[in-house]
Amino acid sequence: MMIKQGIPVSPGVAIGPAFIMGNEDYRIPQRFVRIDDVEKELQRLDAAIEQVCFELGEHEELASDRLGKQYGAIFAAHQQLIQDPKMISEIRELIQDKCFSPEYATSKVLEQYAKLFQSLGNQYFAERSADIVDLQHRMLKHLLGERREDLSNLTEPVLILANNLTPSETANLDKKHVLGFVTEAGGRTSHTAILAGALEIPAIVGVGEFLSNVSGGEMIIIDGYHGELIIDPDEAVLERFTASRQRHFEEQERLKTYADLVPETRDGERITLMGNIEFPQEVEHCVERGADGVGLYRTEFLYLQEGKEPTEQVHYEAYCEVVQSMQGRPVVIRTLDLGADKIPGALEKVLLQNSNPMLGLRSIRLSLQNQPLFKTQLRAILRAAMLGDIRIMFPLVSTLRELRQARMLLSDVMEDLEDEGIEFRRDVPVGMMVEVPSAAILAEEFAREVDFFSIGTNDLIQYTLAVDRADPSVANLYSAGDPAVIRLIQQVVQAAHRENKPVTVCGQMSSEPRFLPLLIGLGIRQVSVTPAMIPELKEVIRNLDVKHANEISSHVSGLDSARDVENYLRGELHKICPAYAVDF
Ligand code: PEP
Ligand code: MG
Repeated sequence: MMIKQGIPVSPGVAIGPAFIMGNEDYRIPQRFVRIDDVEKELQRLDAAIEQVCFELGEHEELASDRLGKQYGAIFAAHQQLIQDPKMISEIRELIQDKCFSPEYATSKVLEQYAKLFQSLGNQYFAERSADIVDLQHRMLKHLLGERREDLSNLTEPVLILANNLTPSETANLDKKHVLGFVTEAGGRTSHTAILAGALEIPAIVGVGEFLSNVSGGEMIIIDGYHGELIIDPDEAVLERFTASRQRHFEEQERLKTYADLVPETRDGERITLMGNIEFPQEVEHCVERGADGVGLYRTEFLYLQEGKEPTEQVHYEAYCEVVQSMQGRPVVIRTLDLGADKIPGALEKVLLQNSNPMLGLRSIRLSLQNQPLFKTQLRAILRAAMLGDIRIMFPLVSTLRELRQARMLLSDVMEDLEDEGIEFRRDVPVGMMVEVPSAAILAEEFAREVDFFSIGTNDLIQYTLAVDRADPSVANLYSAGDPAVIRLIQQVVQAAHRENKPVTVCGQMSSEPRFLPLLIGLGIRQVSVTPAMIPELKEVIRNLDVKHANEISSHVSGLDSARDVENYLRGELHKICPAYAVDF
């Protein structure tokens, strides 16, 4: 049994067999084949070599066409290497003489070669060693085939283990078969982590290296409350977590009773509690928990799921589905926030060239530089707004000029629709996310030009503290409790109030029960959260009074470290809601 610690990003307990995604650096266990099967296994090896050669041939052609012959030659060299008679006969001998499985024999021989090249200690040989590792991955992909690689062929529930999952890979996980996931990389508010919340499956990210200690099919436990990954648990541990999974289900049932209760504090202050969604289907999660609306619809997932640019009709249908399901309640549609870690195939070539994607062509910047793409979305939003209370929100606005440009384009789109005689709503409220320090600092100026603000703490924390939100090696520096972040939020709330504009918090901070009393103390009356958290947050609100929330915020203003703030808030939450801090 082995226990690894990571960052818990979606609560719950999952127990099941491991499914390893991606084949970098995982250990191939020593497996044997029956002597009668040796011939069949040798044929499997030959078939894998043939498939790898074919694949390399295709890459050679593609690279030569697109980049030039010298790049195609890299793959031709790989082809030669994998057909090297000496290397192949060494692998075959291990299968024939020792009855090793082709997977194990291949990884053993290629690893030896890679190490040998590495030990020769010069750049040229080090690169050849990397070539061999690459070939090993290709061979294993074919040998292990669908058993490990192809998620679409899953027939039984599994727990996904991966070095990293891109937001689009995560968006395409099928909840029927995926009970939870764990990644070596990733941070608390990386988009992969956010999607785990959307899928409502237990997940842990940022565990650091562990894939070399686990093999496919091994029994795994994911504790999404405490961030523990348990590989090959013993009987007692398995029993303990089976019980804790049962308690989680029971707690979910108990919290369902909150669906029809109003999120109102003990002294009668009504808090607007909305849901964040990434996919139209999630709107159901909001409705069943009694959300007051959708406070953030991350529309870029239309791109990430489809892998290509959606047509106006695809946008339109998605927005109609959401707004109609919300039955008159508001739906805040955020325009595309592509870039950074959210890169669809169609834009890969442009965006992957950014040396620092978080500071590069992302979000509203990308939309303003790709006007046809942006206008297509704006048309669909304005048309769908005929069906209900839709509001438009621009992400990552960092200058007034950007905001004005975006508004100008919106006016152009209205004119186009009018000229074409297409029905749309003209008086759609237009708001912006405050998630860059420059927008927070100039909040008053921005507030005069928008109908509402929504504070995106996930990015505001990363840009204020200069900490990559997806990087586990600096995760200890990433905290919503940092005094600088709290001061900025306070300034934004005050500026919005001075201009009489509503302000919501839609970053993950508002989904964390310990921060909610502080936000209310800072003057926030609207939040938009992970739908699964709505019942817990309702419970916190209904046990809180605003006087206490104000005391919390004044106390926090005197603290000067994130750790002190977080500890203090944890203690106050326990006082407000002793039932909440249940340790599963
Ligand atoms: C945020 O930055 O807080 C936010 C809500 O946007 P996203 O997480 O999609 O970047
Ligand atoms: Mg953001």
